[in-house]
Amino acid sequence: MPVAEIIAVGTELLTPNKSDTNSLWLTSRLNECGVEVKLKTIVGDDSLRLEEAVRDAFGRSEIVITTGGLGPTEDDITRKTTAEAVDRDLVFHQELLDDLRRKFKKFGYEMPEKNRQQAFLIDGAESLPNPNGSAVGMLFRSNGRILVVLPGPPRELKPMFDEYVWPVVSDMAGGVVVVRKSLRVTGLGESRLDELIAPIYTKYENPATSTLFSKTDIEVQFTATASTADAAKALNEKLAHEVAGVLGAAVFSDDGESMEVVVGRALSEKKLTLAVAESCTGGLVAKRLTDIPGSSDFMVEGFVTYSNDAKTERLGVPKMAIDKHGAVSAEVAEAMAAGARDRAGSDIAVSITGIAGPGGGSREKPVGTVYIGFADRDSCFSRLLNLPGDRDLIRWRSSQAALDLIRRRIMNRDGK
Ligand code: ATP
Ligand code: MG
Repeated sequence: MPVAEIIAVGTELLTPNKSDTNSLWLTSRLNECGVEVKLKTIVGDDSLRLEEAVRDAFGRSEIVITTGGLGPTEDDITRKTTAEAVDRDLVFHQELLDDLRRKFKKFGYEMPEKNRQQAFLIDGAESLPNPNGSAVGMLFRSNGRILVVLPGPPRELKPMFDEYVWPVVSDMAGGVVVVRKSLRVTGLGESRLDELIAPIYTKYENPATSTLFSKTDIEVQFTATASTADAAKALNEKLAHEVAGVLGAAVFSDDGESMEVVVGRALSEKKLTLAVAESCTGGLVAKRLTDIPGSSDFMVEGFVTYSNDAKTERLGVPKMAIDKHGAVSAEVAEAMAAGARDRAGSDIAVSITGIAGPGGGSREKPVGTVYIGFADRDSCFSRLLNLPGDRDLIRWRSSQAALDLIRRRIMNRDGK
């Protein structure tokens, strides 16, 4: 397998305000065609350091890709510096200059003289056309290695890579295709999950299996390598199917969809309407659901009832229940859900009341104590969660648990 390096060029990428996302995109493309990225570098607009970085990279890796610094301004030094790093001259190409002049004319401008430098290429390099900008890219080959010089703006770099670089790179990789697939899982701990699925995935070397933990979920990721995309996909599907079989309802998505998208679709398909009543999440569940286009199909109303009075006035939670059991209790969660359902006139309602911290915890109800309430036409119940994490995480995990409860209930999968 060939090894790649990426060098992102630009002083702004060394400030706290701008991150290098081009290399993430390039890495995923390179991985897909079986190329591993071994090193990434970010270099400011500094010709000495850039020359050194490119020279070193080209000395040790088969594929070196730079992004940025191909524009016409003084700080755009990549064209000249990459040539120096591979000990070649820059050569003027009349046809590139003619193209540039034409591009400017088309938009009603005369080409500024500064752009003339964009008609120069490393001696022996191919030019990579740029339909979305003025800077052409370069592909330089030497001793079975390639140096690819791409512009910085993502909308210019991506099509250029896909059209001109991808075929070369995938040829170097021997026509191998790498395809990923993931299952998103919720409601299971890390070790319990592995206990369930390790006996399955350890039987396979291809696909390789890895588990990634995000703030609420676990993603089980399969990476298959084959000579065609279809063959790699088939390997993933087979293993994913086996793994999903033992995980059952804990798998909420097998194509990368978020929980809110899955829940929103399930509600729409079943023609069910929803209201939410939130205390410690302050509207997060409503926000996540209404982020989905078309959420008006199912979303009726969201109540953010933070104070005890609001719970009583807006949702009809009995003051007695709050006094007796506390605002964070099964009784109040259930009364909130029932109240939201009745006042909004929806088919279903969920509620959340909990202690997100950092203050407000007690011995009986420590930070992370959260009740999720659920009410539909003929039932009303609640769940107690003891969530780990800081305020942000507890709020996020509460919202995920509430959405997951809706999902399981309406799909009749272990809801209660
Ligand atoms: P231009 O002709 O627009 O000057 P260029 O090839 O010289 O193109 P830069 O000047 O380095 O590219 O960057 C132009 C813009 O592209 C940056 O302001 C930034 O928005 C984006 N960009 C550059 N490098 C990256 C990167 N590594 N990741 C994400 N965006 C980037
Ligand atoms: Mg620039």
